[in-house]
Amino acid sequence: MKSLAVLHVLQLVTLAGPTKPRVGAEMAKLAIIRNGGMLIRDGKIDTLGPSAEIEKKSRGAEIVDAGGRVVLPGFVDAHTHLVFAGNRLEDFERRARGESYEQISKAGGGIWSTVEKTRAASEHDLLVQAKKHADWFLRGGTTTVEAKSGYGLTLEDELKILRVMRSLNEESPLEIVPTFLGAHAVPREMDVDAYIELVIDEMLPRIAREKLAAFCDVFCERGYFDVEQSRRILTAARKLGLKLRIHADQLSNLGGAKLAAELDATTADHLEKTDRDGIAALTSASVQAVLLPGSVYTLGSSDYPSAREMIEAGLAVVIATDFNPGSSPTPSMPMILSLACTQMKMSPAEAITGATINAAYSLNWGNKIGSLERGKLANFSIFDCEDFREIAYWFGIPQLHSVFAKGERVAGA
Ligand SMILES: [Zn+2]
Repeated sequence: MKSLAVLHVLQLVTLAGPTKPRVGAEMAKLAIIRNGGMLIRDGKIDTLGPSAEIEKKSRGAEIVDAGGRVVLPGFVDAHTHLVFAGNRLEDFERRARGESYEQISKAGGGIWSTVEKTRAASEHDLLVQAKKHADWFLRGGTTTVEAKSGYGLTLEDELKILRVMRSLNEESPLEIVPTFLGAHAVPREMDVDAYIELVIDEMLPRIAREKLAAFCDVFCERGYFDVEQSRRILTAARKLGLKLRIHADQLSNLGGAKLAAELDATTADHLEKTDRDGIAALTSASVQAVLLPGSVYTLGSSDYPSAREMIEAGLAVVIATDFNPGSSPTPSMPMILSLACTQMKMSPAEAITGATINAAYSLNWGNKIGSLERGKLANFSIFDCEDFREIAYWFGIPQLHSVFAKGERVAGA
C-alpha cells in the first residue's frame, strides 16, 4: 500500500462541510487548516490535521514538503468542449477587427468550421489533440472535467468524439465525465426537424446502449434549438437514463432556465440573460447554475451573469471554463477565478467553492471529489503563495507548484 504525507501546508483549504452542494453563506466557508498536513493511502485521503501530527504518522510514507504554500482540492471543470480539431484563429482576428458573428460565419468561420475540421479528423488525430488539451487542464490544477461532444453532428462523428473521451480517460490522469451534445447546432445538410429525429431515434439510443455519456445537453437558443425542441430531446434522453444539462439563456432570455427547472435538469449553464423569474425557477427545483465568464470575456461583452443575485437566491453556483475553440479558448481555472471575482463580484472563497465542491456535485461526484476529506480521492494542487486569495488576485502568471491526481504527481515540480 503506497502512502504519501503532505506536510507544512500554510493553508490547507479542505472545503470540508455538509455532504451537499453549498449555498448562500456556506459558499464562503472553506474549512482551512493552518499549518496542516494530509496522509494519503492508495490514492485516497486517510487523515487530515496539523502538520506536526501528520508527520508523526508518516513513517514509511513518501514525504511531500509543501514548504509553507497553499493546498487546494483539484479543480473540477463542469463545462468544457474538450474534443475538437484545429482552432479558430481566423475568427479571433476578425473579431478583433470588429467583424460581427454573421460576417465571421459568412467568411467560413463560426462553429461550422470546427465541425468540418472535426469530421475530417481521424479518431487518432483527435485523441492526440485532446491529450494536449488534457495536459493544459492538469497544468492549471484541474483534475476532473466534464466534456461535451457536439462538433460531429452525424451519428458516426458524435460517436467518434465520445470514444476519444473514453480513450482519453484511460490514457490521461485527467478524469473525464462525458456529455452528449448532439443538439449543439443544426448541421447545414439537414433541416431542424429531421436532425432532431436523428438525435432522438438514432444517436441517443446508441449512446445510451454503449454507455458513452452520463449527461445529455442541448444548446437552447434562438437559431439553434427552441424551448419545445430542447424539451423533446431532453425528455427522450431522460427516458434513456441520462441526466440533463442545458445551455440556457446565453444570448437571449428564451426560457432555458425555466425548462431546466421543469425537467429537473442537474445544471443550467451560461444564464447571462436569465431574469429574476428564471432564477426563482432554478432555486425551487434545486438546479445548479454553471456560470461561464470566460466566454463573456472572449466575446468582448460585459454581460456577465448575475452571480450575486443567484447566490443570494440560494443557488449552488458553479464556475467553469467553457473551454472551446470559438468563444472561450482557456482551460485555466485560475483565470476563471479572477473573472468571477472582478467581473461577477464573487468573493475568492465563493469562487473556489464554485470551482471545486459545487462543481463536483454538479457531476454527481460530490461524494468522491471536490474537497479534501477522509475517503475522497487525493486530487489536490500546491500553489506557490501564502493566501488562497492570491490565486484569484494575481492573474496571467502561473502560481502552480505541483498537481496530484489520486495521490500521483501529474504536473509541476
Ligand atoms: Zn458550452
